[in-house]
Amino acid sequence: MATIFTKIINGEIPCYKIAEDDKYFAFLDINPVKKGHTLVIPKIEDDYIFNLDDDTLSGLVLFAKKVALAMESAMPCKRIGLAVMGMEVPHVHIHLVPMENEGDLNFAKEKLKLTPAEMNEIAEKIRKEL
Ligand code: 5GP
Repeated sequence: MATIFTKIINGEIPCYKIAEDDKYFAFLDINPVKKGHTLVIPKIEDDYIFNLDDDTLSGLVLFAKKVALAMESAMPCKRIGLAVMGMEVPHVHIHLVPMENEGDLNFAKEKLKLTPAEMNEIAEKIRKEL
């Protein structure tokens, strides 16, 4: 069965899209730890980042770099943090998070509640920097 992220790629589930090419896709996390929290995924389904072949993994990181630089321009922050967990969704994803301090990468804390209008505005700001 397709993962929830494959359904997002295919447009079967809506998302706040940031970027896409033939192999990779980026969109806002629906439960952000910080404004601009973005997920970057390969289009192929695999559950574990270190199962990816070298080309796919390096391409994913380079795609994430482009997105991170756009986020840095769009969102006020000290730097963009990167995390890989995969405890919830069995489809490889890199979390990119605008950071002010190390607590901003604490995924156990309560998530932000943003309106669709706020999410759209953030996605638009990041897309403009790509
Ligand atoms: P992880 O698997 O790395 O532990 O976390 C999965 C992440 O995916 C979570 O931060 C969660 O908020 C996000 N997520 C889960 N389902 C959806 C969804 O349907 N849409 C979006 N945009 N994000 C999701």
